[in-house]
Amino acid sequence: MDSVLRGIPASAGIVVGPVHLLRWEVPEVRQRLILDEEIDAELARLHAAIDRARVRLTTLRTRAEAQAGPEEAAIFDVQLSMLTDGELLKSIEALIKQNLGAEKAFDIVLLEWQQHFARHATPMLRERVGDLTDVHIRVLSILLDLPDHDPVDVPKGSNAILVTHDLTPSLTLQLDREAIGAIATEEGTATAHVAILARSLGLPAVVGLRSAAKTLRGGELAILDGTEGTLTISPTESEIADARLRAVADQARDEELREVAQAEAVTLDGVALVVRANVDIPEEAELAATSGADGVGLMRTEFLVVGRAHMPDEDEQYRAYRRVAEAFAGRPVIIRTFDIGGDKLPVGGHPHEANPFLGWRAIRMCLDEPELFKVQLRALLRAAVHGDIRIMLPLVVTVDEVREARVLLDESVQELAARRVPFRSSVPLGVMVETPAAALACDTLVRDVDFLSIGSNDLVQYTLAVDRGNVNLAPRFTPLHPAVLRLIREVAATGAQHDLPVAVCGEMASQPLMVFALVGLGVRQFSVSPRAVPVVKRLLRSITVAAANDAISSALSTSGTAREVELILRRRLRVALGEG
Ligand code: PEP
Ligand code: MG
Repeated sequence: MDSVLRGIPASAGIVVGPVHLLRWEVPEVRQRLILDEEIDAELARLHAAIDRARVRLTTLRTRAEAQAGPEEAAIFDVQLSMLTDGELLKSIEALIKQNLGAEKAFDIVLLEWQQHFARHATPMLRERVGDLTDVHIRVLSILLDLPDHDPVDVPKGSNAILVTHDLTPSLTLQLDREAIGAIATEEGTATAHVAILARSLGLPAVVGLRSAAKTLRGGELAILDGTEGTLTISPTESEIADARLRAVADQARDEELREVAQAEAVTLDGVALVVRANVDIPEEAELAATSGADGVGLMRTEFLVVGRAHMPDEDEQYRAYRRVAEAFAGRPVIIRTFDIGGDKLPVGGHPHEANPFLGWRAIRMCLDEPELFKVQLRALLRAAVHGDIRIMLPLVVTVDEVREARVLLDESVQELAARRVPFRSSVPLGVMVETPAAALACDTLVRDVDFLSIGSNDLVQYTLAVDRGNVNLAPRFTPLHPAVLRLIREVAATGAQHDLPVAVCGEMASQPLMVFALVGLGVRQFSVSPRAVPVVKRLLRSITVAAANDAISSALSTSGTAREVELILRRRLRVALGEG
């Protein structure tokens, strides 16, 4: 008998394949006391488990090195070194010698170490918490004889559907693309970064499935439909045939859209608009450049960092930015400086914070770690020799942050000049408007910046106080709330007054109804995932600015809720498209 689990569509596409369950969570460990005469055997059991974990990690390391290169593989070195740490082992052995079972002794010491590292003053040590957790799960799974759920251990060609509770961006990046065909998570929403990354990687995904993993055993056949947001378990023959037909129809639609992709983004009343692409990983650049996008409106550079053992050095970053600039051959490429924090954890972890989304993230972290930040700024200035690179700062709330960043940018120029390497000394600098503070006070930013880009994912989150990644709040994440729309209108008007370009680069810009609203609010630039470029262009080519203005005025003057705004916009859009 089949069962259809419903979640949130996160990345389009249909995959038929076996379920691969990933339970990457620290298992529960019961207290178990041992007799004095059992101590030696228990110590031997601990060492055998650690040896097995080391063999396993070495295999994973070799595989990662072959697939992703030495930098990615280095993360396993960190974990291997933890397993041979004399102090760690001594503490565990001491507890076993006090008659504690090996698994409880291991559990207690690892938890202590994680707490200690999480509060450590040195960022490098705080970043190791994630590695300790991985080691914790791996060794406990061996000691408790639990199945090994390692996500990289799926045979190639399986086209497996990875089902898990939650996936971090770093784990997502580590997935073997030749083995995993789709992702399904219990947690998450369409604007969570796992969803954004799945779209970048071209992996169909459904998120917010709530308790999906609990009802599955692993290995059963399933259909994941990333467009509908469903996961069908043990489908019938006819459901499989139907899914395959829909996959073919999707492909045909994509081909039809490809024709629109190269057309100009001009409305029916002759207003030329700009549609650019969001690029999240450098490997995406070449494909994105053929999407019809007029450059890159947002490159999320933090995906060069998450899940890594070390920060990428200046040369590695330079190569990544240069690759994107060259792929877009002279068209504008807006590269955002590191937006680490929130749900994008750097190098295996982050200091523990009660409210990470209100915490030490993005520009705040970069300004507090100027040496780390300047490595990126220098790489950007060097890459700017190869294209029209523009620099964008995330999560700015006050103009001081822009001014401080400019000082560091000037210092980076001096440093490069002293080294006599080729670089561009003047690169446009813009900011993201992602908070009500930045939106309401954007007139205080305009003199210090060259462009503005509204990050609607965060703007909605901070305006409505709704965590963008929390599945329980997904229905409350409503970009059409009048408060959000008024803020966007304010930013667009201020930009126009000061002759500053204003773009929207959050997920809102990818959806036709929202694009109609944004045009009415005065937005003239959009940056969307490459797949959405033709969808947005087609919409823009089918409407007039006048109709969009009218629709949004009517919606904002008569509605009090997102739902009411939506109903009015839908009706107006149908009329504008000649459908109703
Ligand atoms: C946003 O907040 O809308 C945005 C584009 O940035 P990110 O999704 O990476 O936070
Ligand atoms: Mg953001």
